[in-house]
Amino acid sequence: MENIDLVIIGGGSAGMAAAIQAKKEGVDNLLIIEKMNVLGGILNQCIHNGFGLTEFKEELTGPEYLQRFVDQIHQMDIHYKLNTAVTNISKDKVVTFSNQEDGSVTVQAKAIIMATGCYERSAGAIQLPGDRCSGIITAGTAQKYLNIHGYLCGKRIVILGSGDIGLIMARRLTLEGAKVICVSEIMPYSNGLNRNIAQCLNDYQIPLYLSRSVSRVIGKGRLEKVVLSAVDEKLNFIPGTEMEIPCDTLILSVGLIPYVSLLENIDTPMSSTKGAIVSEHMETAVDGIFTCGNCLHVHDVVDFVTDEGRLAGHGAALYLKHLLPSDKSIPVSLGEGISYVVPQNIKSDNREDITFKFRVKKPIKDVYIVVESDHQVISKIFKPALIPSEMAMVKLDSQKISQIKSEVVIRLEGR
Ligand SMILES: Cc1cc2nc3c(=O)[nH]c(=O)nc-3n(C[C@H](O)[C@H](O)[C@H](O)COP(=O)(O)OP(=O)(O)OC[C@H]3O[C@@H](n4cnc5c(N)ncnc54)[C@H](O)[C@@H]3O)c2cc1C
Repeated sequence: MENIDLVIIGGGSAGMAAAIQAKKEGVDNLLIIEKMNVLGGILNQCIHNGFGLTEFKEELTGPEYLQRFVDQIHQMDIHYKLNTAVTNISKDKVVTFSNQEDGSVTVQAKAIIMATGCYERSAGAIQLPGDRCSGIITAGTAQKYLNIHGYLCGKRIVILGSGDIGLIMARRLTLEGAKVICVSEIMPYSNGLNRNIAQCLNDYQIPLYLSRSVSRVIGKGRLEKVVLSAVDEKLNFIPGTEMEIPCDTLILSVGLIPYVSLLENIDTPMSSTKGAIVSEHMETAVDGIFTCGNCLHVHDVVDFVTDEGRLAGHGAALYLKHLLPSDKSIPVSLGEGISYVVPQNIKSDNREDITFKFRVKKPIKDVYIVVESDHQVISKIFKPALIPSEMAMVKLDSQKISQIKSEVVIRLEGR
């Protein structure tokens, strides 16, 4: 069996950044395994601009952004395999992959980085009521059909869910000549970035209905209409509020789920993000297995995925040199108003800066983000507004980190 120091599973933004960082830190024997026929992951189909504002201080399309990393992969002579799917990993880091040329192959890795991205929630996952007809499609699939294969998925379209992909598809489909009738969102607030609401809906006079969802899908063969109903605070439909909308296509933009089946197969402890529980170096609770990007928690902005990939690459490089902090773990807990935080634990002998990434439970204005340990405030930062769709971050330098001796709590505090 071939020995490889570091196997990176998934060649999207997270996997490529992890590979480049690990190589920069001296890991030469590494391999990226990617199941598609190109590197770059989901960004290959994101032909709109808005990528790279943090990373490159310029606005790039998805393919332009990813190409900068593909170029580095080539310049640094980092090995990768395309059209190759990893089918299994074991706790002792045996990786099984298969492709048409090699068949099924097993390699022994010293460390693994999981960067397999995420998948979209489907009609079945949200128990969409009504007929089972054609014309119901997820936003990412509609994006792939249009931007990669050149197919328009419909002419009169309703979009369910105001996540960023749905908003971006509302604009894209309108530009291609389809009529986007409305976007309907079950929550009382949008789940997309404010800039996408303005640029993708308001600029094209596409209405956004909040606190409304699809109460019935009607169609024999192809979709004919959807019924939208208002919902109460418990998200139950309110009788008498039905709106019938004739349409041929319903696009679902109702959430992304980290793609973690390989980690689940080895009983990796998971968190509320539906990704693995990790330390500040993106190491899971399984020794030598790291994870990053949408496979760890769903990101709205790719620049932060790249950054997290670097962290995992750095962590894996330290691990391979036996330099990863190994002292006892201190848990990081959720306080008032916080729905999740990454990392979920930190090492007590860590000597590096740590960025905590988290989301709030609901939109909130004029708040402090407080980080405390042992009832002592370590950091307190004012934010004029926080919304669940935008990942929030607090960076603590190594001097502040050294003050942490027991459980860390991240919470919101009103002004
Ligand atoms: C549809 C969509 C639109 C977006 N639009 C924007 C935007 O406008 N602006 C912005 O900043 N961000 C946007 N984002 C967010 C950002 O682009 C993504 O969060 C980021 O690109 C995710 O990178 P990743 O490497 O974690 O995942 P991915 O890019 O999904 O990469 C994961 C890779 O792993 C591979 N893989 C999975 N399983 C296996 C396996 N078993 N074996 C081998 N390979 C495997 C997949 O084929 C894929 O290439 C968007 C995200 C999505 C999903």
